Amino acid sequence: MGGKRKFRRYTLQEFLVVLDQSVKKVRFNGIHVHATWRPTIQDYREAKDKESLIQAMWRFHTGTRKFTDIAQHVTIDPDGYIWEGRSLLTSPASTYDHNDSDNDGVHPFMFEMIGNFDRGAEVLTGAQLETTLGLCRGIMTRWKLGLPDIRFHREMQSGKTCPGSGIDKAKFLAQLAKPKPTTLTVEQVNSIINEYLKPAWSDAKSQEQKDEIHRLANELRKAAGIRIE
Ligand SMILES: [Zn+2]
Repeated sequence: MGGKRKFRRYTLQEFLVVLDQSVKKVRFNGIHVHATWRPTIQDYREAKDKESLIQAMWRFHTGTRKFTDIAQHVTIDPDGYIWEGRSLLTSPASTYDHNDSDNDGVHPFMFEMIGNFDRGAEVLTGAQLETTLGLCRGIMTRWKLGLPDIRFHREMQSGKTCPGSGIDKAKFLAQLAKPKPTTLTVEQVNSIINEYLKPAWSDAKSQEQKDEIHRLANELRKAAGIRIE
């Protein structure tokens, strides 16, 4: 396959809006966690054109592997950005027999983290870890998934360490279950909105005030990773 495919880069907050727009179009029934192994974090750091790394994966997947598109729905880079992949409405090329590849609009969400996370190699940390956890939480809240719905590649295919022998599954799930201390919980946000902002919105004297209260409510919803309204 010749030519170049362009890949958009999102912040976590921007991508959560994309997820909001997808809630009614697709149902994710699980989250498949992968890491690239290659490119490595070091490859990413050395690359002048970061998008070229995504394009190289796309060329490998569509050319050598004969997939219809890049395998994953998104790729999380070491700076914590999210690169688009195949359409969210299409089942992924995650692992043989686990892709739910019929066309019923129900399939797992698959992401790749750039890096070699095998023991003694590179480490999933900082912005990349925060975005990974935030993305998983964003999908879990929108599609009502739980920790048992998170699956590492190595759990679905023997002989694989993916997403890396250095990433402990139990620790990863524990991090997911425990929101950052600065993050508002869904319950806190709903109670602030219902007990304070909604009455204030009803009492507001101008449309401008109502719009501002609405904006604040959405900022709170974003902080808790729930759908904006
Ligand atoms: Zn994998």
